[in-house]
This record gives sequence, C-alpha cells and structure tokens, in this order.
Amino acid sequence: MKQEPTITVGIVDGQTELTGQIDGNFLSEGFGLLSGRFSAKADTGTTVLRDGAHREIHRSPLIKLSAVGDSTFRLSNVTIGKRFHWQRTEEQTFQGDLILRLRENGTITAINEISLETYLKSVVSSEMSGGAPVEFLKAHAILSRSWLLAALKRAKDAGDTSGPLSKGSEKEGEVIRWYEREDHDLFDVCADDHCQRYQGIMKIVSGEAEKAVRETCGKAITCHGEICDARYSKACGGLTEDFSTAWRDKSVPYLTSISDAPTPHQPIVTEEEARRWIFSAPDAYCNTQDKRLLETILPEVDRETRNFFRWRIEYPRAELEEILREKSGFDFGTLKEIIPLHRGASGRISRLKITGSKRSVVVGKELEVRRWLSRNHLYSSAFVITFEAGRVIFQGAGWGHGVGLCQIGAAVMATQGFSAEEILGHYFQGTEIQKMY
Ligand SMILES: [Zn+2]
Ligand SMILES: [Zn+2]
Repeated sequence: MKQEPTITVGIVDGQTELTGQIDGNFLSEGFGLLSGRFSAKADTGTTVLRDGAHREIHRSPLIKLSAVGDSTFRLSNVTIGKRFHWQRTEEQTFQGDLILRLRENGTITAINEISLETYLKSVVSSEMSGGAPVEFLKAHAILSRSWLLAALKRAKDAGDTSGPLSKGSEKEGEVIRWYEREDHDLFDVCADDHCQRYQGIMKIVSGEAEKAVRETCGKAITCHGEICDARYSKACGGLTEDFSTAWRDKSVPYLTSISDAPTPHQPIVTEEEARRWIFSAPDAYCNTQDKRLLETILPEVDRETRNFFRWRIEYPRAELEEILREKSGFDFGTLKEIIPLHRGASGRISRLKITGSKRSVVVGKELEVRRWLSRNHLYSSAFVITFEAGRVIFQGAGWGHGVGLCQIGAAVMATQGFSAEEILGHYFQGTEIQKMY
C-alpha cells in the first residue's frame, strides 16, 4: 500500500426520501453546480433531485455530487444507534463527496466517499469525546485504522466469503448466527456501531482527536506483517473474549481472551465460576467509577449507560415471553428455563438453550443472544439468569462483545501513564505497530 485509500460510507439506507443542505458548492456531471437546500425522492426506478425551491434539477438512479473546495453537505434525520437503546435521529454534516444510489427495492442509499484519514478523524471523535487522554486517542486512531484497512482488504480478497446478511447454521431447534461487516453491498462500511460510529464532521469538537489521527497517520497494528482485524467494544468486564464467541469458529491469536487487569484473572469455564465472576467486582482496568474520566471517554449518547461493568435487568416473565416471540419469531409458550450451554473465557454465552411449554431452541452467538432477550440489545451475553416469583432476572458483566480492545479499560490505562503502543500491546498480544503508507 503506497497511498492513503478512499472509502465509501453508507450514511442513510432504506429511506424513500431525504433532505439536506449544501454549504458551498457541489458539482455533478449530470447537471452542474448545486448549493443550498435539496431533497431527493425515489420515484419509479429513479431518484428525483430537487433544489430548495422544489424545482426538479435531475433524475437518475445514480447521482454523484463532488465537493468543490472545502464545501460540505448536511443530511437531516440521520438515524444513529440503530436498534440499540440509544437510537435517535440527528442532522449531520459531512466532508467529501455524496453519492445517491437507488436500490432495487425502491429506496435510496446515501453514500459518503471520503479519504480514509478524514473519515478516521470523525470516527475517533464520534466514538470518544475530545477530552479523552491523548495516548488513548492515539491508540484508538491506530485501532480504527487497522480495523478499516483489514475490512477493505477482506472485501477485495476474491477468495474470502462475502454476501449473506448473517452467517451461521439453522437446523431444527437451533439458531446460531453472527453478523459480518462484509454484509454491505453498495459501500465499504456503514456509519453505525455495526461498523464504526461515524457522525460526520460536527463531532470533531476538539482538536485532540484530529491530532491523534494526524500523529499516527498510516500506522496500523500488524501480526507477522499482516494488518490485524482489530476489534473493540465498550467494556470487557475484566476479561476480554475470544473471537469465536462472537463470530465464526476460528482461533485468532491476537483476539484471544486476556485478563484486563494488572493481576491476572483465570478464564471462565464452569457455570459456578461464571456466577462467582459476575457477582464479584474484580480489579480490572474497566472497573472504574471515575465519573469525570467516563465523561471524557464516552460521547454524550453513551453517558446514559451506567453500571456497565456489572449490571442487572429484570422483566415480568410474561413480558420476556412477548419479547422472545417478537425478536426470535418463535412462540415458546410459557417460559420454563434458560440454560447456558457454552460460555467463552469472559463468561459471555455463545450457545443458550431457551425452553418453553411449546418448544425449545438453542440460540447463538453472543449478539443474537443479546438481541433475543431484550427490546433493543442486552449489554452483553455474560450473564446469569434467575427465575423468581413470576420474574426473570439477568445479572451480567461488561458492555459489548468484549473481543479485542476494551475501550473503557484502554482509557483508564492511558490515565495511568501507559503509551498508545503499550495499550495496544496489552489488548492485542503478539502484535506490532507498522506504518502502512
Ligand atoms: Zn456496517
Ligand atoms: Zn475491560
């Protein structure tokens, strides 16, 4: 790789109408310059573009608008945190080009084409607020860049499997699913947590995130010369998780469970160990109550989530039965028991057996488990279940899949004086940092 790649980010997908505004000028081969307010509407096999006075200026299933100079565009009603507990819509501003593509189902996809380093400045700022410790921001910039370069490479590798929306097996009484990023067909990455949270340039509030990206320009995590598929989540809960608990059955040496603490914790094997682990508050980098630090490392939308290290949620049994029916598509009848069949090293469940009066189904992997048992998503699949007087209680550890870098743990390490290289070396063991371009 000699030079910085360009990437395409899906910002809006599945809408039949969009509105926005251009600040400056955008150029289209089809019709020339566009500025000010605009709208796009799907209309029988094409997209109709109108200006602020609702005059039709162009119609085509593929419209490309290129930014002139440092012009930017805004889109209204962009959904963020899709299907998660923090879902909301916002107006967002973007640098780079805008592509509007019509899907066969008659909806419009808005795609932002942008240079990788500019995209990263936004991602690092969107994931974390600008006041975060500098070494943490640098570690995150290298991490996000590695993740992205690995994803771009995988998409280009003809040999690698890609295509279906989710992967796994569905035999009688079993639903084992996981979600890969190569799911996207019209663009490289989406703007949401499925890939990396990207909320345009307005989130670049402080110069710190931008500086962290600039100072680490082109640097990525590598293992035996190959770019690492560097995964991360909010808080591991004290032990990070193995790759195969969340995705396909494959051992990835640098995505193998580690103890997220100065003193080692043993990996979880038995149910008894899982219970003891979840009901305790072990020493760990991500076990922090430091409200001020959390405010600097969590963007505003995440601050509503408290008690991520150890958490508890309970439902009346009938409510959980209804959620299960809605999310899984199966009618379990009266819920009888929920039994973990397999846990990864951090205690996260990768196979869970749910038994009701009408049927019994095994569900996996970790994200599907979280999806079935909550209206949005449970914080993690590292939980123990208690049935008690018509109620079902979940008590759990951590936030997210727990594989790779633990964001809250990494930020705490930075405040304790660890460098970006040391932080990445802790979470991705056996790796090094290399400049790729
Ligand atoms: Zn995605
Ligand atoms: Zn952690």
